Amino acid sequence: MSGNTTSASQVLGGLEAIRPDLEACYRDLHAHPELGHQEKRTSAKVAAQLKSWGYEVHERIGGTGVAGVLANGDGPGVLFRADMDALPIKEQTGLPYASTATDADGGPIMHACGHDMHVTCLLGAAHLLAQATDAWSGTFIALFQPAEEPGDGAAGMIADGLTDRVPRPQVCLAQHVLPYPAGQVLTRTGPALSAADNYRVTVYGRSAHGSAPDKGIDPVVMAAMLVVRLQTVVSREVAPLSPAVLTVGSIHAGTNPNNIPESAEIQINVRTYGDDTRHQVKEAIARIAQAESAASNAPKPPGIDHFGSFPPTINDEETTEKVAAAFSAFFADRAGTLDLQTASEDFSAIPKAFGVPFSYWGVGCTDPAAYETAARKGTLATDIPVNHSAAFAPAIQPTLDTGVQAAVVAVLAYLGTGC
Ligand code: ZN
Ligand code: ZN
Repeated sequence: MSGNTTSASQVLGGLEAIRPDLEACYRDLHAHPELGHQEKRTSAKVAAQLKSWGYEVHERIGGTGVAGVLANGDGPGVLFRADMDALPIKEQTGLPYASTATDADGGPIMHACGHDMHVTCLLGAAHLLAQATDAWSGTFIALFQPAEEPGDGAAGMIADGLTDRVPRPQVCLAQHVLPYPAGQVLTRTGPALSAADNYRVTVYGRSAHGSAPDKGIDPVVMAAMLVVRLQTVVSREVAPLSPAVLTVGSIHAGTNPNNIPESAEIQINVRTYGDDTRHQVKEAIARIAQAESAASNAPKPPGIDHFGSFPPTINDEETTEKVAAAFSAFFADRAGTLDLQTASEDFSAIPKAFGVPFSYWGVGCTDPAAYETAARKGTLATDIPVNHSAAFAPAIQPTLDTGVQAAVVAVLAYLGTGC
């Protein structure tokens, strides 16, 4: 047993005693979800607990963000981030602790991405580390981030002075529950999550009566040609071994059949895994939009608006290898490799702001028996609810224990003193 594993065993010795409180905390957070930037109840609860365990607590960072700092002697700093926000989805899990929460307009809210589990696991790790300060040395920063789903929560904390308000860590860590068997922890070196970029392209024509197309310039045809031509970006321009997705998710023009409208608008979502491909697709969209407009003799060039972007999540090799080795030592065959994910995250903005490396891993949250049955029947895609599904319902255990253990083990890979 390595020194760090000994430290982890020492710290995690306290898990059994706090497990009932953690499970109650998870059910409470699940029943009371809050949308991005509105995590007031959640952040108040987090701050109160961190204070009670002796953390120096910084509140209202970028709105509702909270950072708890526990300085415990010499050594490096480790920042661990959990996101707090929920989604505008009507929960259909049938769980006794299902959300019935609504926003100010009566819209439903649900923890459909498992951020309630992230908060609970980080609270568990923070509590255990505070209880066993003789097992580690250094500075632990528990960071609770608002608004991951809208994609601007990390940026908001950074703009509000995060890097000046907490000590600069040596490394940043984070985890996400995913629909793999609960009990598993899954790491991945290099690209792990895609970048996401949204574009709104408006093409301009000249309005005319529908019976007289020669008097106008038709932006509907222009937009239709643009949608078709955009399909060639991934199939004909991006290298076959560089994964990319380009989806036109919205197209809108006109209001009635006998009028050629003034303009047409399409909205595009792009997923890529590296800066080169990301830039290549962006350039291709602009080039094709301009060329289709020119081909249609448009009176003016298209408007191209880039909004709602997420950076790619590219795990640092050395950090991830260190975390993966600690996971293998602790979890044995429950530690594995994460598949490349097409989802996106804003977490990497935080280590980037500090100028430090990071690793982000997956924690399985599906009942292992249900997963195995579906895998055997070949019905994983239909039978196992994924993140953002109204039926998404992590098995509280062993997901919660595993998430707390993974956080503690990874943190102690840097801060553990062994004995
Ligand atoms: Zn999500
Ligand atoms: Zn999420």
